[in-house]
Amino acid sequence: MADTIFTKILSGEIPCHKVYEDDRVFAFLDIGPLSEGHTLVIPKEPAKTLDRLSDESAAAIGRVLPRISRAVMRATGASSYNVLQNNGRPSHQFVMHVHFHIIPKFDDGSGLGIAWPAGSLEGKKGADLAARIAAALQEE
Ligand code: 5GP
Repeated sequence: MADTIFTKILSGEIPCHKVYEDDRVFAFLDIGPLSEGHTLVIPKEPAKTLDRLSDESAAAIGRVLPRISRAVMRATGASSYNVLQNNGRPSHQFVMHVHFHIIPKFDDGSGLGIAWPAGSLEGKKGADLAARIAAALQEE
């Protein structure tokens, strides 16, 4: 995979404000925070998108995400937050190295703004779709 800005942060070539590191995971403050404490949690494995990440790296991130979230909340005093994970350019992914955003939400409105254009799930279509996804999972 081509180098990204996050590869360079991992190698130390580009500086960052690190908050956590273990064998598989690295976390640091986002350079363009949506709110105070906006933190990025990344695998050391240079996978582009979540679906390409190994089970081992996924598990390692899953293990520390709650802990890092608690620390961000405690340090900023926020009482609510979003965890955001973008995959693909149309989904607002700019850096092609898997990353989870932890974004505190504050009373002044700072944090993640969300548009949520909910549709509706029709019975038969829903059943067909769930069956297709379940069948695709059998091929994993
Ligand atoms: P994406 O839109 O790809 O999900 O988010 C990428 C994030 O990486 C953005 O929030 C952006 O501010 C952050 N980012 C991009 N370049 C750098 C950098 O050099 N250092 C840090 N700390 N964050 C960066």
